[in-house]
Amino acid sequence: MSKTVLITGGSRGIGRCAVKAFANNGYNVAFTYLNSEEKAEKLATECSAFAIKADASNSKDVSNAVDLTIKKFSKIDILVNNAGIDEFCLFTDITDEKWHKMIDTNLSSAFYASRSVLKDMIKRQDGVIINISSMWGEVGASCEVHYSVSKAGLIGLTKALAKEVGPSNIRVNCVSPGVIDTDMNAHLTNEDIEQLKNDTPLGKIGTCEDVCNAILFLASDKASFVTGQVLGVNGGYII
Ligand code: NDP
Repeated sequence: MSKTVLITGGSRGIGRCAVKAFANNGYNVAFTYLNSEEKAEKLATECSAFAIKADASNSKDVSNAVDLTIKKFSKIDILVNNAGIDEFCLFTDITDEKWHKMIDTNLSSAFYASRSVLKDMIKRQDGVIINISSMWGEVGASCEVHYSVSKAGLIGLTKALAKEVGPSNIRVNCVSPGVIDTDMNAHLTNEDIEQLKNDTPLGKIGTCEDVCNAILFLASDKASFVTGQVLGVNGGYII
């Protein structure tokens, strides 16, 4: 029987690449999106995946997406908490609204989705959760304090939850990407990109495929003794 994966924020970027990668590897794939409806529907058709409109920062939307996925595929074996936003902003310019939007979208989202899938995973004594953090969650980024906090929170969530649910045979890990070529970095100039490449030991920025290979590994039985870990995919930018 094919395994089922639920990916949050699958309409663009890393999430979209993950939808394709899991589908190509024989998984049943469900994914959520918020604004990119047309892209999501097209991707769902291309990959025979199940697209669900659900705001990752809304607890009810998330639990509804989990219920719909279980109804369609009978269970969720793997959850990838990928949906996220970023924002460049001086710390003193972060309003309450900006702060809560960042934390709700990037961190509370993973709490809501993990809590929802775990009920069934614990019953079945089997499951994998993969959180997409960021190297800025490990070392902090100037003018991205709220983003860095949300991503550091995901690392804390990963480690603590891995300890709690390990005895139920559920693995929880993080992928921590460096600079990856997606819409999230579309604002960077050519000069910025060149500088980032120069600052990276491997001399390049990453692709969505680089990140998805790490996600696929952690989802697979090849990682059956790996839990509570933060797997950096950053070309050596932080070591
Ligand atoms: P993109 O901006 O390319 O895509 C973001 C995806 O998240 C979209 O599919 C978007 O859906 C979805 N999304 C955003 N907010 C919500 C929401 N509230 N509810 C549901 N879906 C939502 O980003 P990336 O692919 O680059 O980033 C993916 C993850 O990887 C993020 O968590 C990001 O922080 C992390 N990351 C990215 C890095 C990079 O350099 N690109 C580096 C480190 C980490 P829609 O368009 O439908 O709204």
